[in-house]
Amino acid sequence: MKVKIIKCLQDNYSYVIIDENNQSACVVDPSESGPIIDFIDYNKIDLKYILNTHHHYDHIGGNLELKKKYNCDVIGFKDDKNRIPGIDVLVENNQIWRKDSFEAKIYHTPGHTSGHISFHFFKEKKIFTGDTLFSLGCGRVFEGTNEQMFNSLKVFKKLPKDTLIYCGHEYTLKNSEFCIFNDPDNLKLKEKVLKIKNNLKVNLPTIPSVLDDELECNIFLKAEDIETFSKLRDLKDNF
Ligand code: ZN
Ligand code: FE
Repeated sequence: MKVKIIKCLQDNYSYVIIDENNQSACVVDPSESGPIIDFIDYNKIDLKYILNTHHHYDHIGGNLELKKKYNCDVIGFKDDKNRIPGIDVLVENNQIWRKDSFEAKIYHTPGHTSGHISFHFFKEKKIFTGDTLFSLGCGRVFEGTNEQMFNSLKVFKKLPKDTLIYCGHEYTLKNSEFCIFNDPDNLKLKEKVLKIKNNLKVNLPTIPSVLDDELECNIFLKAEDIETFSKLRDLKDNF
């Protein structure tokens, strides 16, 4: 199974997950349809499923056009059935979603929105975290509480350390500045920042990130209690 990163809008990433045996695919969070259609048609891929992490426009903007063009199914969280356009399949926490050769465990990871979910392709050790976990950061808390977000991040901390993190935005460099500010002596973080800058210099994504790196460098994952986490989240909102 191969993941193709598709840049959308200003700084969004959509992901096309391709089964190379038959060229069928899922797309995670199609912000807009144009770049996805270009890729799908050029590579003669059979787009079958749209996986949405949450209802924000920059994650579902392409749903209806893609559904109309390719007749694909839209998969989203059960409680968001009224705000995910075109939703067909309702999933819930801890459920395993299986179709064809695709298999992902659903984690309800609220905080950014109340119905946010993450898709864990556990066999491939890849997780799609939307706007909950970013590389070196986490999502703003819009609909939930800091405690919910803190608990959602705990879900990721328990995964195998070599899990690859695919998040919804290219915020890594900006996030790294906040991490460095709060954790100035972290050598691994400094090394990671160099790699990030090298990637961005040649217009490459900083995604995916490896969970092991995030555990050591992401200040929000390093927060051990809810008080520390909340303080950091508030500081970051005004950074
Ligand atoms: Zn969002
Ligand atoms: Fe977003």
